[in-house]
Amino acid sequence: MSDQPVLLVTGGSRGIGAAISLLAAARGWRVAVNYAANNEAVDDIVARIKAGGGDAVAIKGDVGEAGDVTAMFEAVDRHFGRLDGLANNAGIVDAPARVDEMSVARIERMMRINITGSILCAAEAVRRMSTRHGGKGGAIVNISSMAAILGSPSQYVDYAASKAAIDTFTIGLAREVATEGVRVNAVRPGVIDTEIHASGGLPDRARQMAPSIPMQRAGTADEIADAVLYLLSKDASYVTGAILNVSGGR
Ligand code: NAP
Repeated sequence: MSDQPVLLVTGGSRGIGAAISLLAAARGWRVAVNYAANNEAVDDIVARIKAGGGDAVAIKGDVGEAGDVTAMFEAVDRHFGRLDGLANNAGIVDAPARVDEMSVARIERMMRINITGSILCAAEAVRRMSTRHGGKGGAIVNISSMAAILGSPSQYVDYAASKAAIDTFTIGLAREVATEGVRVNAVRPGVIDTEIHASGGLPDRARQMAPSIPMQRAGTADEIADAVLYLLSKDASYVTGAILNVSGGR
């Protein structure tokens, strides 16, 4: 069996997750690239990793569906036979709305994918990586958002609240498994130039927000991937329960 560590990246087919997948492969990780629906995008990422001499597999599954999460981790077990890291990245926004305009369905979907999905994935990773379960240790990086602190009024307070839950989850899980060889940290991206803004009906959001960002520009997915790969690496061996803002000063 290969000594190369294995990383599962949820939502690894586009945006920040794709950048994490590509950088991880370049740093020697074998990568399980989870995605929800976009076969073309995931095939491109897996092909680019393989073209660079790396190893990757695409695993379809909705992190908001418990059965899909179980199946996703079983697919990692079958394909690679080990798990060393989880980039808990899959997440959604929705169209701008005030809280008093939000439907129950919208709020429940937001929380199911962004919170429940991340917790379910982390739980499966801990079952495989924690020394308490016979694992060899590992690292989890959750993707939060500066929205957790800023609240995103009149845009998506539900999203901001879901990311604040990720922050608290990161601190709690980090302390829970600190003696079990598993480090748990989070990255809070600021405004990053990806397709997520178009999915919320604001395709120009990254460009429009630039003047309000201290560094006067949106960030790139690669700049988030750099932070995630640091937290996954041995360079961060004493870092757990940390939440790193990568936001151009926002
Ligand atoms: P994106 O460009 O919209 O990409 C989303 C990725 O997640 C895609 O690979 C998509 O798969 C996958 N995905 C969506 N729903 C999923 C589900 N239910 N189950 C599994 N995979 C799912 O998003 P992004 O901007 O890279 O955002 C990634 C993470 O960073 C999210 O958690 C987001 O909240 C966070 N973040 C982003 C920003 C920003 O400004 N971009 C700022 C702060 C935080 P398909 O390709 O199959 O659709």
